[in-house]
Amino acid sequence: SAIPAPARIQLLDDELISQIAAGEVVERPASVVRELVDNALDAGATEVTVRLMEGGVRLISVEDNGHGIPADQLALALRRHATSKIRDLHDLQSVLTMGFRGEALAATASVSELSLISQTATQPHAWRLEARTGEIAPAARERGTTIEVRELFFSTPARRQFLKTPVTELAHCQEAIKRHALVRPDVSFALWHDGKLLLDWRATPAQTLPGLDLALPTRRWADALGRRFIEQGVPLQAERGPVRMQGWLIRPEHAGARADTQYLYINQRFVRDRTLAHAVKSAYADVLHGQRQPAWLLHLELDPQRVDVNIHPSKVEVRLRESQALHQALWHAITPVLAGLKPHSSSDDVL
Ligand code: ADP
Ligand code: MG
Repeated sequence: SAIPAPARIQLLDDELISQIAAGEVVERPASVVRELVDNALDAGATEVTVRLMEGGVRLISVEDNGHGIPADQLALALRRHATSKIRDLHDLQSVLTMGFRGEALAATASVSELSLISQTATQPHAWRLEARTGEIAPAARERGTTIEVRELFFSTPARRQFLKTPVTELAHCQEAIKRHALVRPDVSFALWHDGKLLLDWRATPAQTLPGLDLALPTRRWADALGRRFIEQGVPLQAERGPVRMQGWLIRPEHAGARADTQYLYINQRFVRDRTLAHAVKSAYADVLHGQRQPAWLLHLELDPQRVDVNIHPSKVEVRLRESQALHQALWHAITPVLAGLKPHSSSDDVL
């Protein structure tokens, strides 16, 4: 049989390398929204405004009032593996920022028309950089950064073809913003789509719950998940061993048919974790009827050294040290809350 001669091994050129890398980070407009909002939060922003056109395919613009990027570093921000967030292996082992891989801007710029406008506290004026041409020019804006991403996937028709309708892409973008907003009640978020204001969540302090020595951001949770989630739920706050937990659990009798309101955060990062999701599920198992799905929101605070966030480009999956111990901690915290519920007692006043 004819075995082909070996093809020559060659180094890929830079542009191709970027495109391949971009495929892992930028799947759809919502991935860009997630990364840009991550950056805004890492820059200390207290206001984040997202503007989309056509579900983000035509335009994604994220504006923040964070610390900005100095003019002489704008170009560097667009380079692959360039980051201000970690410096060495030690930093990588205890990441507390949302970003650290230094690839989101580079990846996005390689599959779109991207521009950066930024102003710091000390520069005489802002600067605007066009990623494709490298053109840099003076601009006007207050302290903070605006990143505009136009014509996503214009150069990669295959990827563009996989995009769904603008309505669906918009829904994913909204979900990305919601994931951030739920855990950052101290930040105001607004979303505009084709010139219409869709979300306008003002920063809100935690509310002290009547009869409980607890302050939780129930207003933001109600804004993002609906009033009924709060009215039909109960608070959770616990500390067990290495983990501090805070959240909201729907009363079993209000569990619905869909598992679309289940939000797990570790150190303010939205994550998916089967082990921990299973802990919540089994805590509910005894008190739920049939196939009902509980709605819940849980925020865990852990020593960052126990969480490896560097296993997936989108950082949605993480690896947990001693995840069985965490499973136990969660289960033990939730079970007594659910077991102690008297049916029909109301938590109307918590807003
Ligand atoms: P990472 O967030 O992993 O560092 P990015 O590609 O997302 O990588 O961003 C590269 C760098 O650009 C960041 O490390 C940060 O210094 C800077 N940067 C990006 N977005 C912003 C922003 N909105 N405000 C201030 N600095 C930013
Ligand atoms: Mg980033």
